Amino acid sequence: PTAMREIFLEPPKVRWSDIGGQEEVKQRLREAVEWPLTHPEVFARLGGSPRKGLLLYGPPGCSKTLTAKALATEAGLNFMAVKGPELFSMYVGESERAVREVFRKARAASPSIIFFDEIDALSASREGGQGRGGGGGVGASVLTALLNEMDGIESLKNVTILAATNRPEIIDPALLRPGRLDTILYVGPPDLEARRQILDIKTKKMSISSEVDLDELARKTDGYSGAEIVNICDEAIHYAMRESFDIDAVGRSHFGQAMEKAVPQITSAMRE
Ligand code: ATP
Repeated sequence: PTAMREIFLEPPKVRWSDIGGQEEVKQRLREAVEWPLTHPEVFARLGGSPRKGLLLYGPPGCSKTLTAKALATEAGLNFMAVKGPELFSMYVGESERAVREVFRKARAASPSIIFFDEIDALSASREGGQGRGGGGGVGASVLTALLNEMDGIESLKNVTILAATNRPEIIDPALLRPGRLDTILYVGPPDLEARRQILDIKTKKMSISSEVDLDELARKTDGYSGAEIVNICDEAIHYAMRESFDIDAVGRSHFGQAMEKAVPQITSAMRE
């Protein structure tokens, strides 16, 4: 029961336009998941078979979760989110049951997406070692349960699996075989244009003074993730409030102070 709490069906309201940049990822997901659903007759005519599983990989805070939610919203799919590590906070046998339960719910709610965040947790445990699951045994059986569900071809109609990881190199190869997570998409750090878009999206919901130069901010945030850029904006709000509770808008100096404190966490090793 502890971890089942983390498994939920929610109607996400994230749109493609809420995500700055990532045009190629958006397009690939539209083609692989949205088009077969919105144009089934064309897809069938051309002999297409729907993608069952896709893997998003890339550094933290670069919109993997956001992308999964947007896909669900835009394609009109029910959305189920499961975090890999949560499947291990259970007693032996419970994790496997939870996996089957997730797929059962997703089938009942189809067309739907199951989003497995931090999917690498499953593979890491399988090797024993750091033992998030307390040893190889538990991890292996959870992974086996997951593979079994993925391979249930007929029953998986209209259920798409989307998985995400920051550590693609430790994913168990069994998960990446054809018919499983066989479409792999890199979700990288935002480029200049994407950073400008992220700043636009975020500051639209803020009150900022006209002297704030978003182009300059976009240039200065090279190397920062989307999450870090959003965080700089939130910090700027705090600096503005520190100055005065009567303040009407976040100013240039507040962004400047927030920038000074910010340190990008993405290392070159995390890049493609
Ligand atoms: P993690 O690997 O840490 O789970 P993630 O890649 O799944 O990270 P998200 O959870 O999607 O990242 O992003 C975190 C937050 O950062 C989002 O809720 C959003 O506020 C912001 N963000 C990140 N990238 C973008 C983007 N491209 N456009 C708009 N907002 C973004």
